[in-house]
Formats: sequence, structure tokens, C-alpha cells
Amino acid sequence: MPSIEDHERGIAPKQKKRGLNLTEGRQRQQPDEKPQNDREDFSDEIVLRTENLTAYYGKFKAIEGVTMAIPKNQITALIGPSGCGKSTIIRCFNRLNDLIEGFHIDGKVYYYGQDLYDKSIDPVAVRRRIGMVFQKPNPFPKSIYDNIAYGARVIGIKQDMDELVETSLRRAALWDEVKDKLKTNGVALSGGQQQRLCIARAISVNPDVVLMDEPCASLDPISTLKVEDLMRELKKEYSIVIVTHNMQQATRIADVTAFFNARETDQGGKQGYLVEFGATEKIFNEPTKKATKQYVTGQFG
Ligand code: ADP
Repeated sequence: MPSIEDHERGIAPKQKKRGLNLTEGRQRQQPDEKPQNDREDFSDEIVLRTENLTAYYGKFKAIEGVTMAIPKNQITALIGPSGCGKSTIIRCFNRLNDLIEGFHIDGKVYYYGQDLYDKSIDPVAVRRRIGMVFQKPNPFPKSIYDNIAYGARVIGIKQDMDELVETSLRRAALWDEVKDKLKTNGVALSGGQQQRLCIARAISVNPDVVLMDEPCASLDPISTLKVEDLMRELKKEYSIVIVTHNMQQATRIADVTAFFNARETDQGGKQGYLVEFGATEKIFNEPTKKATKQYVTGQFG
């Protein structure tokens, strides 16, 4: 059984990632130890699962009662009108909301069988397994090379850096465009190239899941299509969750789609909830719920 260090060096096979140790720096478990909350319905085909997830910013309940499952090696799109909680949900998947004061959840988020919010879990280890790409490309103000190598060195990846940089840039379909200018500052690239550099950086640390929060929102149509092609390629190795406002994008790339909506609360605010979740084709062509049909046919949102 390969150790966690083997995984980090990138020499352990990808399929061995199930039940990874997410407690580094805390009470250490063996990678092959049976995960907590292991249950029969945690199939190997489901990488993330929420159960009755409710998320609060202080007293404000942003989303309520979300139960959904993210399939492995597929692209899952989260769609819905602004403010319905798509970003909140996607950030629950790698505990990024923990950095916001007052944020807390009820319900559960499982990574395979592991309860991601259990007190033994190290959020930094979670973010290493479950990477994130943001709406606005955010390369470090460093060379293209160091955008990949810096993060890898910080977390102690021992692999040959030249090889890691090349592999990551190749996987992100950027290598051919930048191989002769690896010392150029990452921020000097075009917006689309910067976003692919951020994707290369996210995958350089050998994650299992890549979360993307409107990754094409600031890109032109050509760059958008390149990033979409890249996602199709990446899903062979990673499970991808994408928030998108672009419904054509969801139909082009997503295998499954979750439609969220928001309801008015008595306090005058809005609260997000999951309306419907299923195969993208079904959500767009034969939705079960009236609100889904209205949304995907452009009647609101
Ligand atoms: P979406 O991604 O669907 O547009 P968000 O998850 O960004 O929705 O927001 C859901 C709700 O949570 C909104 O009402 C938003 O104002 C609120 N919200 C988001 N981030 C914060 C935050 N950091 N602090 C307080 N409220 C927030």
C-alpha cells in the first residue's frame, strides 16, 4: 500500500486515492484505515456527497438542506440564479468557507466515506486533495515555472521540478504555448493562458477533485472553448465540479447538472436550495420540476 508521501511524489497510481489521509498534522491515520462513517451507500463512483447541508454566514442561512452526490471522473455543473448559493456549496467541498468568520454548517459533507468536517480532519490536507480554480485567473506574480514549482515545493513535493512543471503544463494544454518562455511572469500571459496556468498549478499537487468557480467568466469565447476542451480531457483523471452562469457551457461540458434556486425568507433575505439534480440532458430537456424548466428556458435568472 503506497504511503501518503508516495502520493505526494506522484508515484502512487491515481486509483489508489480512495480513503486518503486527510488528517496530516493532526492525529495521523494510515491511508488504508477504514474511513469514519463508512457506509454501504458510499460507492467508489461517488467522490463527494452532501447530506442535508445547511450553510450559515453568521446568523444568515445561505443554503438549506442540500443532499447531492458528485460522481467520480465526471463534470458536475452547478447552475442557478445569482445568490442561490452555488459558490457557497462549492467552497464547502474544500472547506474554503472556514476562512470566513462566522461561517458554519449543519449536515454533512463526505469525501468518499470521510466526514470532511470531522474535528480530526486537517482543512489544509483537504484543499490539497480538492483543489480550486477561481473566476478571475490569479497566477502568482512569479515566473510561469515558479507558478507551478513554488506551491509544489511549499508542500514538500520531492519530484524533479522540471518534470513536474512540464507535466502540469502539458496536462493543462499550455506547454506548447509557453515552453520557450518559462521565465516570463505568469501575469504577462493572456487571460485564457493565465487561467490554464492556474489549472496547471491546481493539478500540479496531484489533487483528486478540481473545483472551478465560474472559470470562464472573464474569458473570451475562444479561450472559453479551450478551457472547456481541457476540462473534458482532465475528467479522465480528476472529478470536476464547476459553477457556471453560462447554460450553454453546462450543456456542452457537464455530465450531470444541479439546479439551485433561492426562496425569499421572512427576514427579507434569500435562501438557496437544490431544486433538481441529474443527467445534464435530462435537466435541460426533460426536467422534473417546473422551476428548472423555467430557468433552463431563460424565463428567469
Ligand atoms: P451564488 O454563487 O449562487 O451567486 P453565493 O454562494 O455567492 O451564491 O451566495 C449565497 C448567499 O450567501 C448570498 O445571499 C450572498 O450574499 C451570501 N454570501 C456569500 N458570501 C458571503 C460572505 N462572505 N458573507 C456573508 N454572506 C455571504
